[in-house]
Amino acid sequence: MRTLSPKLKQSSSKSSSKSSSKTSSKSSSKSSSKSSSKSSSKTSRSSSPCDNNVVYMDNNGTTLITESAKRAFMNWISCYNASTSSKFGQKTAKVMEDCSDYILSHCGTSTANHTILYTSGASESNCFAIRSCVKSFRRKMLQNGSDILPHVVVSALEHNATMACVKDLEDSKMIEVSYVYPTIYGNILANDVENAIKMNTCIVSIMFANNEIPIINNIKDIADVCHKHAKPLHTDAVQIFGKFKLNIEKLQIDMLSASAHKFYGPKGVGILILSNNLIEGYKLTAEINGSQQYGLRGGTENIPAIVSMTEALKHTFKNRHSKNSKLMSCRNLFLDYVSEKYSMVPYELYLTNNEHDDLELVSLGPPLKEKDKEQFILPNTVLISVCKNKGKPFCNIILRDYLEKRGIIVSIGSACNTNSEKSSHVLDAIKAPSVIKRGVIRISFGDNNTQSEVKQLCAEFINGIKNQCKDLD
Ligand code: PLP
Repeated sequence: MRTLSPKLKQSSSKSSSKSSSKTSSKSSSKSSSKSSSKSSSKTSRSSSPCDNNVVYMDNNGTTLITESAKRAFMNWISCYNASTSSKFGQKTAKVMEDCSDYILSHCGTSTANHTILYTSGASESNCFAIRSCVKSFRRKMLQNGSDILPHVVVSALEHNATMACVKDLEDSKMIEVSYVYPTIYGNILANDVENAIKMNTCIVSIMFANNEIPIINNIKDIADVCHKHAKPLHTDAVQIFGKFKLNIEKLQIDMLSASAHKFYGPKGVGILILSNNLIEGYKLTAEINGSQQYGLRGGTENIPAIVSMTEALKHTFKNRHSKNSKLMSCRNLFLDYVSEKYSMVPYELYLTNNEHDDLELVSLGPPLKEKDKEQFILPNTVLISVCKNKGKPFCNIILRDYLEKRGIIVSIGSACNTNSEKSSHVLDAIKAPSVIKRGVIRISFGDNNTQSEVKQLCAEFINGIKNQCKDLD
């Protein structure tokens, strides 16, 4: 795949939208500074949509923006259009270039080998990767007089955006799909990916880390099998981006999605990193048409969000190693505490055991404290199920609400599922029985959580269980 064609030359030609950008940025700079000073004098801190008093432990759902990322956003809230050829627009274009340089170097690469597209978030990035590869493969086939449909390989526990995208394309008879199922721990094996690849496969999309189960896939092994068959690999790296330095050159990733609001940046902005070989070899085209971003993603770029995202990444990555150790110690403190009160059973044992205690805590994902497995476990996430094996079944919604009333925010699954309160496709993919699904709680610690907050969680978690399981007392 990677030897298909020469490197894509970065086109720096900017389209002209001189007049419109001049007028709009001038007027907006005036009005925004006026209105922001007005509103800051009017709005008190208490009107913030975030309550600083809650113990927030749903960081896989979203993280809260850092002060420095907020400032960076506000600094660029009024700026000229990067596509204008005037020197004013060039300043904006330069800051975007600097952001790209920083993000790519953070990923062990540069514009010589990879291109960044700024998107509205990882949902868009995932959909772009899939749709664009499908379209280019289809075009190539038709040119060769073949009517063969493109084939897409995804794992069965991808994010909803990916799952819905392939379903939509499949329902429209535009692709055929193969789903790769995970092991009992939730990880995807390279061998299973290889078995799913077909001659007409146009893209393999396997997430780097899952948002519910704390699993990190061995993406290098997966990339190797994809390239052995000359197939491009896309990875949804949302949950790992910012937590670890990823070297996408070494990992041989062709496309990578990430989202700023998962690493303490603003919402509504993300990236898709594309290998230049892939853009050229596949002749990828836009999903949103327009002249910006090499003609691959039209629309005037959201500069304040892009600058703010880059600042968030810099901030998040400062002392990352010790931040990850702190996250792991939060996780271990919680597990040690609750396992003193109730028996803690790994998921695979729960499935094979015939004898169960009346109430057990079941941990999902790989064994959490084995040192050699740390590289395959998200340091901040615990997915645990309260399994009541006797009497009235346990309800995770009641426990979540119990904690929320006491100011502790956790999740009962993927952020996208919580409104519908349906069981998640991730739990379906690991074939979780309904007793596990009913009791599942996801705790995702963030860089700002403290040990005393974790102790508060432990105490209320146990109280919440006792409160619901009075019949077992
Ligand atoms: N992929 C994963 C693994 C996620 O957790 C999320 C967000 O929940 C997304 C993609 C979607 O990201 P965004 O909210 O930026 O569209």
